Amino acid sequence: MAYDDQNIFARILKGEIPCDKVYEDDHALAFNDINPQAPVHVLVIPKGRYQSLDDFSEKAPEAEIAGFIRAVGNVARELGLTGDGYRILANHGADARQEVPHFHVHVFGKRDMGPMLRRER
Ligand code: AMP
Repeated sequence: MAYDDQNIFARILKGEIPCDKVYEDDHALAFNDINPQAPVHVLVIPKGRYQSLDDFSEKAPEAEIAGFIRAVGNVARELGLTGDGYRILANHGADARQEVPHFHVHVFGKRDMGPMLRRER
């Protein structure tokens, strides 16, 4: 499946749709999630056209991968999450219920995150 240039995060990157920006550098943009699941819920996205970690890890140049990972760490530090801790999460595909087909890492903080996954019933 080809990258969809009209996906919502692509449109945010192009400046067509506003976002509540918390961080930006050459490789990444970070903004508050519109439907926060924690007191801090930020999305960090690479500036390149990648649908998920799958094609990002396969196709992105090393500098983009390194820059993106550094950006995730910078965001957590700048938001003051390092002391008490935080969780990052990235969804790929249907089983993970990925909604937006532009690679993004969720950063959650400022509360106890509970167990890693809900148990199967
Ligand atoms: P995922 O299920 O990992 O694809 O998560 C997509 C996330 O994007 C969800 O947490 C949504 O609340 C969030 N989201 C969707 N549209 C926007 C938007 N315009 N600005 C900020 N967050 C958004």
